[in-house]
Amino acid sequence: EYKTLGFIGLGAMGKPMLVHLADKLPPESRIYVFDVVEAVVDEMCSKYPHRVLKASSAKEVAQQVETVITMVPEGSHVRSVYLDPQTGVCSTDISNKLLIDCSTIDTATSLAVKDHISQNFPTASFYDSPVSGGVVGAIKGTIAIFLGCAESDPNMERLRHLMGLMGKEVIACGGPSLGLAAKLSNNYLSGIIAIACSEAFDMGMRSGLDPRVLANVYAAGTAQNTICDRFCPVPNVYPDAPSTGGYKQGFKVQLMRKDFSLAVDMARRVESKNVLGQVGLDTYDGASKDPRCRDLDSRVVYRYLGGDED
Ligand code: NAD
Repeated sequence: EYKTLGFIGLGAMGKPMLVHLADKLPPESRIYVFDVVEAVVDEMCSKYPHRVLKASSAKEVAQQVETVITMVPEGSHVRSVYLDPQTGVCSTDISNKLLIDCSTIDTATSLAVKDHISQNFPTASFYDSPVSGGVVGAIKGTIAIFLGCAESDPNMERLRHLMGLMGKEVIACGGPSLGLAAKLSNNYLSGIIAIACSEAFDMGMRSGLDPRVLANVYAAGTAQNTICDRFCPVPNVYPDAPSTGGYKQGFKVQLMRKDFSLAVDMARRVESKNVLGQVGLDTYDGASKDPRCRDLDSRVVYRYLGGDED
């Protein structure tokens, strides 16, 4: 069905997502790609000759294809990829095209891009579609995808099929920008749990408890949750947790800081009480700047908060 596809933003997430598309789409399909870093575009084009093709701008990608996926860092990048008057996706005729933004950005920017598109190209469709599961999930093809549309959306079948090539679960979150609202609420929750979990382990261990005993207690008790076991902030409790590998793999603390701050902004905008927001923001802000934590998995907050001190 997807004879031509575009992919813009081949970074830590975008590249492995593109690999799944290139491996799984029918051989006759063509994927046009663009990134401001030319080397990564060249790398993917030589990995998949005749299937992955180089474009020189977001506009050129949009000219060549019927569906465009974007995966760039922040709202400012999404704006420029779509709205730049010379090189953006919307600087060419995108009538009838499907546009899917997987970046984690603020809901207001996403809605502004969607509005611009529906005013100028009423037959084009834009969706927010942020993902969860990290780089490892992107490589394994197990990311969860949160679509900003209703299950009854006329494009749902196409979207489910395409996004399902890159991830395990595709959830329709109800309407425009609600994929992002879901993703930001999720990361807020998991960020707060990691802080609470770090503090709970620390007080227990300082009281003389073995962390593996504590992990069993949490798993058996009412505190049971995935951060306390699979992503345990304390090293050597769960063998595959990022902490056990020196926090090297996983979800970088700076990205948690970014998502957390977007979530707190969203909470303020919708007048949600959000008493833990400032504490979380200060904690992830501090950890992102701390040389012992920077560039490591976000569960390194355990170290930032005084655990893991040897
Ligand atoms: P990244 O910085 O590794 O990659 C972003 C890519 O976008 C880079 O290759 C960059 O050159 C490119 N880019 C930037 N501006 C561009 C432009 N104007 N035109 C074309 N290309 C441009 O970031 P990432 O880790 O892949 O994250 C991408 C998005 O996914 C972010 O919003 C992030 O919050 C979200 N996300 C990341 C993770 C993760 O674990 N890394 C997990 C879930 C979601």
